[in-house]
Amino acid sequence: MKLKLIESREKQRTVKKKFNFRGFSFFSGENVSMICEPSKENTGIVFYCKGVRIPAIAENIKLVDVHTTALTKRGVDILAIEHLMAAIWGLGIDNLIIRLSSNVVPAQSGSAEEFTKALLKAEIVEQEETRQVVVFDESTTITQPEFKSRFAKFEPFDKFDIKCFVPFLSPIGEHTVFFNGSAKSFVRDVCWARTFLRSPIDINDLTKWNGIRSVFKVLPEDPKKSPIITFTERGFLTPLKKEDEPARHKLLDLIGDLALVGYRLRVKLTVNEPGHKFTHLVAKKIRSSVVAKKNDS
Ligand SMILES: [Zn+2]
Repeated sequence: MKLKLIESREKQRTVKKKFNFRGFSFFSGENVSMICEPSKENTGIVFYCKGVRIPAIAENIKLVDVHTTALTKRGVDILAIEHLMAAIWGLGIDNLIIRLSSNVVPAQSGSAEEFTKALLKAEIVEQEETRQVVVFDESTTITQPEFKSRFAKFEPFDKFDIKCFVPFLSPIGEHTVFFNGSAKSFVRDVCWARTFLRSPIDINDLTKWNGIRSVFKVLPEDPKKSPIITFTERGFLTPLKKEDEPARHKLLDLIGDLALVGYRLRVKLTVNEPGHKFTHLVAKKIRSSVVAKKNDS
């Protein structure tokens, strides 16, 4: 992969104030919390859980069966990091310490909206040192062999933007969504999009829904009251904020997973059919390429 790490003129960023964030675990339904703290330059995004330091980098990704991004280090796993990571990266934060009270990032909804609000309230501040960014010398495409039409194409560019094509069957449908790399675009176009079921349920036979509830214990008996978007083959049970909200959520997940590269990218990125397994692969490939270059120089 022809890419390199260069010094940019952009300053690194952290938050000014420490803050406490309370929410629930989608898995156990329990109340959980985290503390986010400012962090020094060149420390990156780092989680602390049960006394273990877990940097938010692709090397620490743990592959899990549920649709989420998990990290692992020294036997400690942390789940559901992707929406928080998307907010951190989307708002341009480079350095942050996150102390978790349990093995899961607290949620207040199935989107990144509350994380975004909390981080903005903590005031994002520039630091003394500048950022290193990843630039591409030539176009490169990453594919996932099991899925013919799934790809991520990286083209040299002096800024960062993502175009993402998300095809689903009805009622979700096919959508193309965009993120132009700015915090403004993240807040306006992406942060509020909620997660959704990946296939329809039958409102007259809730066997499937109850199966999902056995994994995500926070989900209610009535799918219409779900904090995640639910639908049948005929239509949505959860009113959407915008008709392409599920596609925007896929973009949100993609941003959260790309954050695990650990550096900002200057690239024009086109992604077809994103999904966590694929974006974990993409983040790992780019990260390992960057780390190899760094060790060479
Ligand atoms: Zn998600």
